[in-house]
Amino acid sequence: MSTEPQNTPNAPSDVAYDVLILGAGAAGLMCAWEAAKRGARVLVVDHANKAAGKIRISGGGRCNFTNLDVTPKNFLSQNTRFCISALKRFTSQDFINRVAGAGIAYHEKTLGQLFCDDSAQQIIDLLLEGCDGAGARVQTKTKIIAVAQTASGFTVNTDRGAYKSAQVVVATGGPSIPKMGSSGFGYKVAEQFGLDIISPRAGLVPLTFEDELLARAKELAGVSVDAEVACGKTKFAEGLLFTHRGLSGPSILQISSYWT
Ligand SMILES: Cc1cc2nc3c(=O)[nH]c(=O)nc-3n(C[C@H](O)[C@H](O)[C@H](O)COP(=O)(O)OP(=O)(O)OC[C@H]3O[C@@H](n4cnc5c(N)ncnc54)[C@H](O)[C@@H]3O)c2cc1C
Repeated sequence: MSTEPQNTPNAPSDVAYDVLILGAGAAGLMCAWEAAKRGARVLVVDHANKAAGKIRISGGGRCNFTNLDVTPKNFLSQNTRFCISALKRFTSQDFINRVAGAGIAYHEKTLGQLFCDDSAQQIIDLLLEGCDGAGARVQTKTKIIAVAQTASGFTVNTDRGAYKSAQVVVATGGPSIPKMGSSGFGYKVAEQFGLDIISPRAGLVPLTFEDELLARAKELAGVSVDAEVACGKTKFAEGLLFTHRGLSGPSILQISSYWT
């Protein structure tokens, strides 16, 4: 059963929150759950009607929620050491234990990828129930108007009240797929606070053919093969799918992050 809040009264704005999280996606909900477990007073706000829209469509609706073999090498970053301590303190097995503990049936597809047997909604419910159980409040349908720094922390003005918090976590995700709630808002906040921004670029995406190649490959749309695809020294050996626009499938999604 989903604990997603609908038409609930506004979160009180006369409370001093410890952590105010902007964005109720995978990152925001996990952060809320963990912060509340440690005793913090936590509020999550999101402008979408429902939390975690992208999890709902992830993994073809079954959510590839983790991998049996997760290492820092799997994370692309200018600072390759950035994720090391986080991965040491919370391993993929820790998340698998939470999934199994909630009675969610799952299976390994290929190369250690774990998917729900039934529905990605089970992962959303796991996160929302985790937040609820730890005492974090998740408030959707909340438009953020402004974020301001104050002497004691931050004030976030929204169309449902002005919320004060010692700390603010920006977890509004990347700019892809705006109909799922993405807005690029995090980049504006980073700019406001004078942080350097690396221009975002597409990753884990299908590739499109130019017109001439598309015409030649038209007949192949729908055909899938096992392939090794390479860009420079990086290679992936997985499925490849010809589509009506170009190429997709796991090997292409992976190599797209390296495409130059
Ligand atoms: C089709 C597809 C399939 C995928 N499948 C998988 C998969 O199987 N496994 C996997 O690990 N990853 C998968 N991903 C990637 C995964 O969905 C993302 O990496 C993940 O959702 C990112 O989480 P996030 O919390 O950073 O951002 P998001 O999930 O984008 O969450 C950001 C939240 O912030 C809210 N928000 C944005 N702007 C504002 C604003 N201005 N004010 C208030 N709220 C705002 C949004 O409504 C949203 O709820 C898939 C992605 C897609 C598109």
